[in-house]
Amino acid sequence: MMSIESLMPREEECISTLREMRWPDGVIACPRCGSDSVVKDGPRGLYQMYWCKRCNFGFNDRSGTIF
Ligand SMILES: [Zn+2]
Repeated sequence: MMSIESLMPREEECISTLREMRWPDGVIACPRCGSDSVVKDGPRGLYQMYWCKRCNFGFNDRSGTIF
């Protein structure tokens, strides 16, 4: 299986500025329990939604708050 790095090297560069905002690329931690068992839950407007499978906590990639 191909790695994310090989699939989108340019995109990885583009989001480098986003890294300093909250999370490194591909390493999303649940703001509630700190688990990395987080899955993408699709885009919601300008935000990327995430869902923690460990504590069933939904949040976005900007504020890290519940929707
Ligand atoms: Zn969690």
